[in-house]
Amino acid sequence: MESRDRRGRVRVAASVAAGLPLILVVVYGPARAEAHPGAETATGTVELDGKLRVIVEDAQHSSRTLYFLDTGSERLPLHFKSNPPTGFLTGQGVHVTGRRTDDTVEVPSGDSGIQPMTLPCCTSTSNSSTTTTSTSSATPATLTNTFGAQNTLVIMVNFQDNTAQPWTASQVQSAVFGTVNNFFWEGSYGQTWLTGKVCGWYTIPLSSSTCDPNQIAAAAENAAAACANLSAYSRHVYAFPPANCSFGAEGTIGGNPSQAWLDGTIDTGIIAHELGHNFGLYHSHLLDCGTSILSGVCSVQEYGDLYDTMGGEDGHFNSFQKSRLGWLGSGVVPITTVTASGTYALDPYEIASTNPKALKILKFTNPTTGLSTWYYVEYRQPIGFDSFFGSWTNSNVSRGVLIHIATDSTPWSSDALNMTPQTSTVEDVALVVGASYSDPDAGVTIKPMSATSSGASVYVSLSQPSCLRALPTVTLSPSQVGPVQAGTPVSFTASVTNNDGANCGPSTFNLQTAFAYLWTETLSPSALTVSPGATSSASLTVTSPPDAVTGPNPVGVYATNSADLFYSSSAWATYNVGTSTNTTTSSTTTTTLGTLCLPSGATCSRASDCCSATCRGKSGRRTCK
Ligand SMILES: [Zn+2]
Repeated sequence: MESRDRRGRVRVAASVAAGLPLILVVVYGPARAEAHPGAETATGTVELDGKLRVIVEDAQHSSRTLYFLDTGSERLPLHFKSNPPTGFLTGQGVHVTGRRTDDTVEVPSGDSGIQPMTLPCCTSTSNSSTTTTSTSSATPATLTNTFGAQNTLVIMVNFQDNTAQPWTASQVQSAVFGTVNNFFWEGSYGQTWLTGKVCGWYTIPLSSSTCDPNQIAAAAENAAAACANLSAYSRHVYAFPPANCSFGAEGTIGGNPSQAWLDGTIDTGIIAHELGHNFGLYHSHLLDCGTSILSGVCSVQEYGDLYDTMGGEDGHFNSFQKSRLGWLGSGVVPITTVTASGTYALDPYEIASTNPKALKILKFTNPTTGLSTWYYVEYRQPIGFDSFFGSWTNSNVSRGVLIHIATDSTPWSSDALNMTPQTSTVEDVALVVGASYSDPDAGVTIKPMSATSSGASVYVSLSQPSCLRALPTVTLSPSQVGPVQAGTPVSFTASVTNNDGANCGPSTFNLQTAFAYLWTETLSPSALTVSPGATSSASLTVTSPPDAVTGPNPVGVYATNSADLFYSSSAWATYNVGTSTNTTTSSTTTTTLGTLCLPSGATCSRASDCCSATCRGKSGRRTCK
């Protein structure tokens, strides 16, 4: 699935053959397009310490996650060639190993090229390799500052060439400290709220024809210093009339202070969404497996969870997201972890009671990572901030349970499951009373028994599966190629061994490759049917673009069991580009995409964008219905 937004950036969405990692190809347009003669002079492997910044850009049709390293003397974009890290929060001290060009650090893999570390007090830069770093891979930090009063400063600024004041201070006050505050209060069951003030308008010495969020933030804070003691606020929000930004809004993942930018909008759903990022949340997706739920070929719709403010609409954060915030499961409002068959009660999700608000049922523990994946089951009613779906004619959510799947210590893993994948709408994703869902590989069956205004009861059956599935073994050979000249086709062999129990019978493994943007491949075949205990192979040829930068590049292949996408493994090799053709790169790399229409659940700006010809939702986060 590929979509193009109005500014021409391409988002390659997350084909989840992967099962686990959301392979979001991050496109760094400017940094790459501006590669200029002389860039090589500053290249070389570097080890850098500093503070990480993680920013999620929300645009009309796409989302990008950007990484920066603050070294103390400069702010360097980090470009991960594979597996960008997802467990870090803004402000985390990190040790980065990569390859420096003039303005970017290219890191081969987020798995190994970035390590958490404790920075020495008050300084943040070092080019030495003597720093002690953790050798374990990063585990996501527990979110902090998610309870109680969130002291929030909103700064309204405009530009030298656009001094418009599209909102009054009282309108912004009402949006942030009225509606959005109420959203956090209700969603947290009275555990979290917003306090603070609005400063501005200020005209900052910048033009709206450019959009550098760092400059806007610095200028806004400089201007607001007379209005507020900035250090007293842990959350900073910058609101401005439309500028030439590549996003509609964006926010840091975590950070103290956290930062959010509102480009020409004070839509309360968007403000709550950006603050959700600021609290440490990633997006709430929908898993799209065609007419199946968890099998076949699946993709992730980035904003496809229509019942969640971190997805497509302005509803409550789902129970996985709330458990990350601590609002559910660890404090006064419980999640019931199901360890035995039985019937379990759920309160309406929106009600501020101390009865269980979700069930958590084990799907799978990955023996490679040790991480467990869970079903989260919750019962929504169209009340409070969930009222919006009461008017949705296709919604079945109030008549059953919403089911999500997510993985421990994996902040971006929130996927809504579509329990009625055969219908053309994704408003009816719930499992309603009378229906049941079975996962034979986990031995789990979920069956809602009743759903009334006062609560739901859900029968859960746990049993031993007859077919014991296992992760496949994947290899890619040769493991190292090159150095070869840019543009050289290189052949690899990808092999898959089926480790399932004999009772499972043969399985088909879908293959998916992963490599840098603009590289090309041929893969044959793209799926392998393999019996338990047997091995089969496919041929992969990968070609780098003629202007590929000198250095190592990861080439990956994922094999995913089509019967259950959580049984997926990957293997990686290295393609070393040794000779850059170093020709002057023309920027006329026009990619003809033909006529595209967006699938159901994709973000859209107008009805004609969508295959279904229906685009609905809040500005900036509308989705095809
Ligand atoms: Zn977002």
